[in-house]
Parts: sequence; C-alpha cells; structure tokens
Amino acid sequence: MLAELRKEFLYGGRALVRDNALSQRLVRRLRGHELMDDYALKLLGDRLLHRTLQAAIDRLPYYAHIPRDFSPVEARQVLREMFPVIDKTALLDHPRALYPNGGARRPWQVLGKTSGTTGTPLVLIRSLQSVQMEQAFIKRHWSWGGYVDGMPRATLRGDMVAGLEQQAPPFWFENRYNRQLLLSSRHLTDRCIDPIIDKLRGYAPAMMQAYPSTAYTLAQQLERRGMALHVPFLFTASEPLYPHQQELIRERLAGRIMDMYGMAERVALATQCEYGSLHLNTDYSHVEILDEYGEPTNGYGHVVGTTLHNLAMPLVRYRLSDRTRWKPGRCACGRPFPMIEAVTGKLEDRITGGDGAEVSPSVLTFAFKGVENIRKSQVAQVGPGLWELRLVPDANFSQVDVDKLLHNIRALVDATVQVRVVLRDELPNTAAGKFRWVVNEWEDGRRA
Ligand SMILES: [Zn+2]
Repeated sequence: MLAELRKEFLYGGRALVRDNALSQRLVRRLRGHELMDDYALKLLGDRLLHRTLQAAIDRLPYYAHIPRDFSPVEARQVLREMFPVIDKTALLDHPRALYPNGGARRPWQVLGKTSGTTGTPLVLIRSLQSVQMEQAFIKRHWSWGGYVDGMPRATLRGDMVAGLEQQAPPFWFENRYNRQLLLSSRHLTDRCIDPIIDKLRGYAPAMMQAYPSTAYTLAQQLERRGMALHVPFLFTASEPLYPHQQELIRERLAGRIMDMYGMAERVALATQCEYGSLHLNTDYSHVEILDEYGEPTNGYGHVVGTTLHNLAMPLVRYRLSDRTRWKPGRCACGRPFPMIEAVTGKLEDRITGGDGAEVSPSVLTFAFKGVENIRKSQVAQVGPGLWELRLVPDANFSQVDVDKLLHNIRALVDATVQVRVVLRDELPNTAAGKFRWVVNEWEDGRRA
C-alpha cells in the first residue's frame, strides 16, 4: 500500500513537471522548426550556439580565457578555433574548471547521474529549463508517430514497478496522470508473461516505449505462444537496436519502430522518422563528426556534441565513444534535419542472470544507481549465474560502496545471481581501442 502511494507521488510529481501547459507550448515551438528551410535553421543554430558559448565562458573557469566579443554568425568558427574537444575523462579530471560554482548545485538545478555504458559514473548539473526542453524534444519525436498527450501508452523499460520476488500479478503500474501503463521488464519470464500480454492487449496502447532488448524479449515470448500484439508504434532508445531484434519485433509486437539515439550527457539527439531515416536534431545540440585527429570528416568518426539548452553546465565539444557518419541527401519526410548512419560503438556481450535468462545492459546500469567513488567498471560473466564486478576505485572508495552495489543488484537487477567484486588498477580497452562494459567470458554461455 505504501509502495503504491509512493508511485502515485513519483509519477504524479513527474507529470506536473513534464506535462504542463508550458511543455505543450515548447513542443509546438519545436514542431515549427520542422517547417524551417536550411537557412532559417542555421540562423537558429547560430543563435543558440552563441548563447551556449557565452554561458560557458561566463560560468566555467576552463573557458574563462576565451574573449566573449563575437557574434552569433561567428559562433561556429569560434567553437572550432577556441574550444578544445573534451571527453568524460576531462570532466572527471577537472571538476572545478568544467562544473559551475566549483561543482556545487544550486537549489533550482537538477542533478543528472549516470553509470553510463562506458562504466564510469558521472554527475551532471542540469537547468530546470533544459529538463523541460528534453521532454519537449522527446514529445516532438512521439508526434512523428501521431502520438499526442492523452493517448494511452505503455512503457517497458527499467522502471521498478514490481518487486523481483513477486510471482503474482500485477507486474505493472497504471500511471493515471498521463495514461501510461508501466510494465516490469524483469517479469517477462515464462511464469509471469501471460498476464502481462493480457494486460497489454486490453490496454491497447497507441504507442510503446522500450529498450530494444526488452521489446525483443517480449516479442520472443509472443512468438513462443504463436501470438502477436499490434502496437502501432514502438519507440526504442538507450541501447543498440540490432537487425535480428527489429525483424522479430515487427513481426510480433509493433508495426513500426522509431529508434532514438541520445545519452545522459545530452549533447546529441537523433530520431528515426516514418521513413526509417535517423535525423540529427540540430535544434537540440550542435554536432560535429570528427576523425581521430579531431578534424571534421565525411567518413566514420566520433560524435562530438555541444549542448544548446543546458546553460547551467554547458558541455562544449564533448566527445562520445559512439561513431557514425553523415548520410548525404534529403529524406522523403521533408524535415530539414540532416541524416546520420546508425550509431555504433557500444560494445556489449550478452550475459545471463541466476535463472539463465538474459539481463539487459540497461537494466544492469541500475546496479550503479547512487554509487559513487568508482572510476570505471566492468561486468563480466565468468560462469553459470556468476558475475565478476570489476571496479577501478577512486580514493574515497570503501566497503559502503561495495555493499550498496551488491544491494542494488539483489533489489534492482537479479536476486539470484552470484557476484564477486574485484578491485583493479585499470580496465583495459580492446585491441581496437574500445571499452567493453559488459563481457561474457564464460564460453559455454555465449550465444550467437
Ligand atoms: Zn525523414
């Protein structure tokens, strides 16, 4: 009962921040950008970039030496010539120079925390306005699938809506404040799946949000039962969406998949349209694709992004481990946003939990919820139902952090898996220079 009340407060409170009249105005404004021509969109980008760079120079000691007397039309050039490319390591190494107010949060600012798929936790400071803008951008993408506020939607992501040990329905929570059915992605098991399928069928959502891996697991369960659900649009995010997943999802779960590429640092957003193209939202952030020498390239390169909305902690020329390249031409949908190829670079193996069922990397990140003092981590499957958690600790690391990690795994990820924690000085990258956060070293457990 108490747990139910807590959910009411949590989701009711979220609805107040995210779904008010202001947010609807923001979505309308963003939809207007879709009708702009290239020149108008470039002017808008110049103006927003200029605002970001001015804020960075004013607020972050790292950029204090850069002269601020340049105009919006000069902003792109100043960015390239005066602002160095930074990455997550730079943020961790120079907190006083790259965080505002020496890293202290103001009461009206929001803290974003991430364990990230590279395995190093990171804290970010966000303005309330940027949090509202984020939601407006997501809703603009939803509108590409005909979805507007008030239609029923289902969510199959990492939300804790039923305890891991729970074996009887409900394995879901109905958020009345914005007609959302939150389903437990940890109960897509043979034992619990039938009531979940029935519930979804009855709820008839206009769209569904899911991780690619959770949608795929549900599609597999439907296939095993010779069943299909016909959700009009599936919005996926947070993980790579593999072709074998798309095929089965389209066959069993949802007619159209609209994938989204984003990250906790919020320096790039690409959204898939009705024609399957991945459009880079140039009114969300300024994105460069740079080669290994930091030069712009039309070939594959790293995504380097600059926020246009979070002025509380402007991330400027922030390089991600993700790689892609520009796709020339215009999309049949007519939107002015440029296209990119599918994003690669998140290297992950498949691993299984205590009961032999696959555990999604996105669910795994919950192990690190609220855990600090870790420089880098890696989750390795080393045997049946046995994981090794490899950590590169920082100076303040203690047993408290270990206990929190183990508690999180029991409560939020998998109640029966055996975990051993190992401290390391360094976690090496692969020969190709990429870091694999999730690895399966138990040969027998690997599946194609
Ligand atoms: Zn398009």
